[in-house]
Amino acid sequence: MTQSFYPPQRTLMGPGPSDVHPRVLAAMARPTIGHLDPEFIRMMDEVKALLQYAFQTTNPVTFAVSAPGSAGMECCFVNLVQPGEEVIVCQNGVFGGRMKENVERCGGFPVMVQDDWGKPIDLNKVEDALKANPEAELLAFVHAETSTGVQSDAKALCALAQQYGCLTIVDTVTSLGGISVCVDEWDADAVYSGSQKCLSAPPGISPVTFGERAVEVVKARTTKVQSWFLDLQLMLSYWAGEGKRAYHHTAPINLLYALHEALVILQEEGLENAWARHALHHQALRAGCEAMGLHFVVEEAYRLPELNAVSVPDGVDEAKVRARLLQDYSLEVGAGLGAMAGKIWRVGLMGHAANKKNVLLFLSAMDAVLGQMDAPIVRDVAVDAALGVYAEG
Ligand SMILES: *Cc1c(COP(=O)(O)O)cnc(C)c1O
Repeated sequence: MTQSFYPPQRTLMGPGPSDVHPRVLAAMARPTIGHLDPEFIRMMDEVKALLQYAFQTTNPVTFAVSAPGSAGMECCFVNLVQPGEEVIVCQNGVFGGRMKENVERCGGFPVMVQDDWGKPIDLNKVEDALKANPEAELLAFVHAETSTGVQSDAKALCALAQQYGCLTIVDTVTSLGGISVCVDEWDADAVYSGSQKCLSAPPGISPVTFGERAVEVVKARTTKVQSWFLDLQLMLSYWAGEGKRAYHHTAPINLLYALHEALVILQEEGLENAWARHALHHQALRAGCEAMGLHFVVEEAYRLPELNAVSVPDGVDEAKVRARLLQDYSLEVGAGLGAMAGKIWRVGLMGHAANKKNVLLFLSAMDAVLGQMDAPIVRDVAVDAALGVYAEG
């Protein structure tokens, strides 16, 4: 007989999923009720308001797509891109490449603006592309590139797009809750995120917000949205039908309890405090890594506190280190992707996982594991360096 599955207790310090807050796990275990139950609809309305807070927006079209971050991405593209349209897509890592795929699958034409992995999006290149492609309707970019740990200047990119008459699609999957995301201040048009990174909820649900201009574009479409499931107007009949919600699909009820609880926790802490917490633990992790002799890949000005790309020292088998961390410390960190495979570790400090205990666990574990492998590091200094940062507050 197959037995019940009990996962091991891990510490998740990779690129997502991140450690889920115990309050969020507890919320998921509450009784499932009907998705058109008045109490459930009341909770959905609270989720919308909490998401408006998290995104710092008053957009009425703010809700959660019932699928992971990739579906939030797809939701923005399928609704805003019509066949034959040009879309300027910035790529400085893995996720810009997925945006390109989305544009192509919508029948659009991506105009790629490439930057090196580990570098932010270059505003001058984007401006050149906007000038050279006056037909373009949209600019799409990733605010926080999880594959490299780089943040780009979302506010400036949105302003550039507006100057050239383009709407924006912005990926904030790894930034929401970890660093400043201010949708209204940026004046971004369509923004999506995910539950499993800095919000510390399980994967599988994707917050999105659409501004007025984007909603107008969707309403004015002359062709049907290619995806029935992700058609914004159909989804809104479920999420926003005043007093008469129409059945569209069955929401993942318990996952929405989880998102609700995660957002309540974020609201209790306060957005600014959450951003400051991510920054503090990043500084402690950084001090420890640098004392040990490990280097950060990304220039300081563009580093994401929640995703630390750390170079693998010469001669070290990075996969072996990750395997030891998992086996001996039940600690998960991420590998490099694409061009950075084998060269970096991706150390997440996302949401609930951004705490002192995790930073000290990671540093002492790395000290021991790398030490045993005779890696060229300085032993026994990392934890003290981190504690020094905490002592300063
Ligand atoms: C994780 C991630 C996604 C995809 O989210 P899933 O929940 O894995 O589907 C998209 N964009 C970025 C920047 C991400 O980090």
